[in-house]
Amino acid sequence: MKWTIDRIAFFTLVLFLSSDSSLMRAGGASALSAESPPIIDLHFHAIPDWDLQALVKVMDDGGVVMAGNGGRSDSVALSFAEKFPGRFIPFVGQRPIHDLIQKEGEQVWKLESKAVLEYLDQLEAGVRAGQFKGIGELFVNNIRSRPSWFPGALYPADSPLMQRLWAMSATYGVPLSVHMEATEESVAQMERLLVSNRQGTWIWAHAGHFGEPPLLRRLFQGHPNLYCELSGREGLRLEKFRRSIAEPIDYHGKLRKEWKELLEEFPERFVIGTDVDGHDPRTYAEMIQFWRKILPQLSPQTAAKIAHQNAERLLKLLPTK
Ligand SMILES: [Zn+2]
Repeated sequence: MKWTIDRIAFFTLVLFLSSDSSLMRAGGASALSAESPPIIDLHFHAIPDWDLQALVKVMDDGGVVMAGNGGRSDSVALSFAEKFPGRFIPFVGQRPIHDLIQKEGEQVWKLESKAVLEYLDQLEAGVRAGQFKGIGELFVNNIRSRPSWFPGALYPADSPLMQRLWAMSATYGVPLSVHMEATEESVAQMERLLVSNRQGTWIWAHAGHFGEPPLLRRLFQGHPNLYCELSGREGLRLEKFRRSIAEPIDYHGKLRKEWKELLEEFPERFVIGTDVDGHDPRTYAEMIQFWRKILPQLSPQTAAKIAHQNAERLLKLLPTK
């Protein structure tokens, strides 16, 4: 009898895994070597203007097996994943939460707005159903880093809104992607939230923009549930696009010594992303080539973790071969 039940459980598991494989299986790029590991881009924003065929071709050429984060809307993020199963990872909440805060102000992050409470119920249903693999990108503090795109976004990282999202992160095992400049006040709020529930996962977009190795080292040591995503910190962006306001992790493509040491010291804590504005395949390819120059400067084990293994673990994706 027990054997039968175990067999049923096993076949149910197989069916479950195969039915969800469109989201979980990374495609393409299986021939990449240990020196050039497959890449999972965890800072890709789905916007409708992308020529998806052209984008997927660039991803294939650069060995990018999956890409994801929040989209122009939740449904746009989902539509990318539906059109190219296994290649895009939809996150939820980026634009709706931002737009509500712009419209209604602090009552949104204090959870005193009917509209945000209704939206969060909808968001939670999508996460619970497994439609979305993460929540964000949330713009908790972008006063200096993205003032033109997202004016005035500054709210407490441990506000009632963030506490509710953090509880979802813990309950459903989905990370939050958070754009929050590393000011003293925001960091203290973030730390209170990280301590409040160790089951939640915080992926700090752009490594906090101003987050430098001494601060990050202290935070990693104190918070096992803190991770950093490195888009926006590339020297390439600073040199070419003159948009980053942060210190880059490299100078002209060579990792700074203190960053190399930090990445090797905490190889489990980093993921990479591109965060390309708009729908520009050429810039996307350049960002990937940038990472292809950076990764070989690390030990092969660290490079593989940062390029894809950490993302697979945090988002519960099937390992890339
Ligand atoms: Zn950002």
